[in-house]
Amino acid sequence: MRLSRYFLPVLKETPADAQIVSHRLMLRAGMIRQASAGIYSWLPLGYKVLRKIEQIVHEEQQRAGHIPMLMPTLQSADLWRESGRYDDYGEEMLRVTDRHGRDMLYGPTNEELITDIFRSYVSSYKDLPLTLYHIQWKFRDEIRPRFGVMRGREFLMKDSYNFDLTKEDAMHAYNRHLVTYLRTYERMGLQAIPMRADSGPIGGDNTHEFLVLADTGESEVFYDSAITELSFGDRNIDYDDVGQCQAILEEFTSRYARTDETHDEAAFNEIPAERRRSARGIEVGQIFYFGTKYSEPLGATVDDGQGGRVPVHMGSHGIGVSRLLGAIIEASHDDKGIIWPEGVTPFHCGIVNLRQGDAGTDAACADLYSALVAKGLEPLYDDRDERAGAKFATMDLIGLPWRITVGPRGVEKGMVELTSRRTGESEEMSPSAAVERLVEIYEAVREA
Ligand code: ATP
Ligand code: MG
Repeated sequence: MRLSRYFLPVLKETPADAQIVSHRLMLRAGMIRQASAGIYSWLPLGYKVLRKIEQIVHEEQQRAGHIPMLMPTLQSADLWRESGRYDDYGEEMLRVTDRHGRDMLYGPTNEELITDIFRSYVSSYKDLPLTLYHIQWKFRDEIRPRFGVMRGREFLMKDSYNFDLTKEDAMHAYNRHLVTYLRTYERMGLQAIPMRADSGPIGGDNTHEFLVLADTGESEVFYDSAITELSFGDRNIDYDDVGQCQAILEEFTSRYARTDETHDEAAFNEIPAERRRSARGIEVGQIFYFGTKYSEPLGATVDDGQGGRVPVHMGSHGIGVSRLLGAIIEASHDDKGIIWPEGVTPFHCGIVNLRQGDAGTDAACADLYSALVAKGLEPLYDDRDERAGAKFATMDLIGLPWRITVGPRGVEKGMVELTSRRTGESEEMSPSAAVERLVEIYEAVREA
């Protein structure tokens, strides 16, 4: 993409109403624009990152055998009356009435709808296990939408639903989700720690939230610092292997890590003092086994192979896709702007032409651009007639992890400069060496 033809409305001033750094940077980098409280338009740069995050979520869900589909944003109130949640959900639910006077709502989640689909088609244990998911906009009329996309009213969520014959099978689905989430967040350059969370009236300890540590996080968390040394890395997983998934769950949840709702001071104090941490965190996902809470009232039963019918065991598992943009920026920025991890960057690299209009640098940039595209990389070429300082500032603000600078002196020697946004270090090399380097970097990311 040539910047002169792109739509990147960066702001010079720091928006006064944005309280946290990710919100400020998303506004300044021209990624989002508020349409009304807690509701945003995704401008081209923000939309690109949103799609990348979504893509990683899709890939990791499907790697585990979970099946993508799409349910609507607007739902009929009838199903929610059946489950009993229409009245319980309260003011966070946006309710609307259609022209025929039918009660509708903008879905805050989809347990009812997916259970209705399930009961309409599946009636035998032979069709289990089954895990369906979608990535769809949700609406929750949050009393205090704030921090940009972090706590929106309209937000994008991945929600999966597993259907299993027994609790044991459903717990495997739970563990499997935990494994997919560990991999998903790491591919985005994030450390998200599974912490034991509150399962509310359902009880049990079959729910974990995934938290990214950040001072601006809304959750208070307590953990053993040893947990931050764990990493999922490049493991080969057989998602049908019950023992393997269980072992990974144990590895990542055996250390103390809890949100304030489940925090237990006595257990916490058993951790050696130097490893005891209390901090803030951003909830980027949650997994939940809830048994027959919806299958019973909605009559989602299957023949159990022994002449009886039993309600299926279910769980639901969410990832805050749009919130993740804010979380990644909170975890990865400096005073000049965003620093995108390679896995989610909107463009693979920037090209800065130090002397626009100079035949030599223009031609060198054009060649470099084609060479990158030929290798399947997507550069953002700043071809505007601007000072070098302004071009660098824009690149730093929007946070592309790599920049190639092309100037008249380098061109004479057949050299360009490759700069890392994260370290600020530059290296002079031939254009073809720069292309090769980037190809290597991004191949490693794709294989992750
Ligand atoms: P919170 O405690 O932050 O209000 P929640 O526990 O009610 O969230 P879930 O129902 O678990 O949310 O939804 C799954 C994921 O969706 C959350 O882990 C979070 O990442 C994301 N999410 C929830 N509410 C919002 C929101 N208002 N804006 C953006 N993302 C959200
Ligand atoms: Mg939650």
